[in-house]
Amino acid sequence: MFSNAEIGIDLGTANILVYTKNKGIVLNEPSVVAIDVRTNQVVAVGAEAKEMVGKTPRNIVPIRPLKDGVIADYDITAQMLKEILKKVSKKVGISMRKPTVVVCTPSGSTSVERRAIHNAVKSFGAKEVHLIEEPIAAAIGADLPVEEPIANVIVDIGGGTSEVAIISFGGVVSCHSVRVGGDKMDEEIIQYVKKHFNILIGERTAENIKMEIGYALIDHVEELMDVRGRDLLTGLPKVITITSKQVQQAIRESLESILDTIHITLESCPPELSGDIVDHGITLTGGGALIKGMQEWISNEIYVPVHLAPNPLESVAIGTGRSLKMIHKLQKALK
Ligand code: ADP
Ligand code: MG
Repeated sequence: MFSNAEIGIDLGTANILVYTKNKGIVLNEPSVVAIDVRTNQVVAVGAEAKEMVGKTPRNIVPIRPLKDGVIADYDITAQMLKEILKKVSKKVGISMRKPTVVVCTPSGSTSVERRAIHNAVKSFGAKEVHLIEEPIAAAIGADLPVEEPIANVIVDIGGGTSEVAIISFGGVVSCHSVRVGGDKMDEEIIQYVKKHFNILIGERTAENIKMEIGYALIDHVEELMDVRGRDLLTGLPKVITITSKQVQQAIRESLESILDTIHITLESCPPELSGDIVDHGITLTGGGALIKGMQEWISNEIYVPVHLAPNPLESVAIGTGRSLKMIHKLQKALK
């Protein structure tokens, strides 16, 4: 029984990660699938599918089935999951026969969606399939003592959504989610550059700008970045220089919505647990936690200690994998 593979899957809006007990993270790819619209079949998954964006015949369309944190098309999501499991079994070379699989589901998912995910994994030959709520997985992966009767606050800033949850005694006490994350910031940067420079830039460029010189709302020494785009007047390529203060201005609204969500969640905290938050603080995870100055900005705003998870991009996958050990204790939280 113990020789069976144990696998944890993070079905993120931006990235899918797979964790195995012995090898750690074995797959980390964008949650993109390329679909042949004539047959509705998945032709590529992950990095390969992302590469196809803008370069394929019309019938091949790259989509992100989990983009907004809800499963837009669960049939395609199920096909994507199967392809991911195939890739993993090829890559890792471990016996994928009858693995035990834990999948973390987006927190807004319906029971129909959860069943679809469950069935997709099961039909791949899994012996057991467990679904775990995302904030619990994120908190376990961020090394928080989720089983203890204290308030663990996890803020997961992903691509399509951000979630703030209070977890105590292995269960979610309170959770608020907002459809704002890294994607929205990229979009805001595109709009800003269009409005102020008359230049059109692509999503990838916007994401690079955010990662290179994007700051939370803190004071900092201004940084510059040269950016290539298409001049909307002449139609020709052009290089402009954007500053970190401008980027900060562009992404302000998204940052503020995330902060609001933290406020709302803390306000809904049962009073007995509020004291814990003052002592232990909150923990940031997800790719958005890597925006420069995030930790400093949030702690200035909410007056409690703010910690950064050890591996923000991997917390959920690690926690999903590790949760196998606690499966019985967490039984209440699993469905
Ligand atoms: P999800 O769980 O929704 O798949 P992730 O936690 O993988 O999302 O985070 C993806 C988001 O994090 C993307 O919007 C990406 O641009 C952003 N991101 C990743 N690394 C960084 C970084 N170093 N700085 C700022 N944003 C980042
Ligand atoms: Mg995530």
